[in-house]
Amino acid sequence: MNCYDCATNALQPVQAVAVASCARCGAGMCRTHLHVTSESVPGVPNPPPRPEARRLTCDVCFAAERAAAGLA
Ligand SMILES: [Zn+2]
Ligand SMILES: [Zn+2]
Repeated sequence: MNCYDCATNALQPVQAVAVASCARCGAGMCRTHLHVTSESVPGVPNPPPRPEARRLTCDVCFAAERAAAGLA
């Protein structure tokens, strides 16, 4: 699979090997377009500190989730 954002770049489309898929939209992402964040897992009964789950998102979904959270 190739990076979706690289392949659909309007100015200079390129074929970059994807290293992950966006957790929200499922697009393949290269390392440049990948955002690694963490999130707590609901329902885990352990007291803090507890491990957080990894979340991989693309540029578009990362920006959208930040805006939705009031962080943009
Ligand atoms: Zn890319
Ligand atoms: Zn996405």
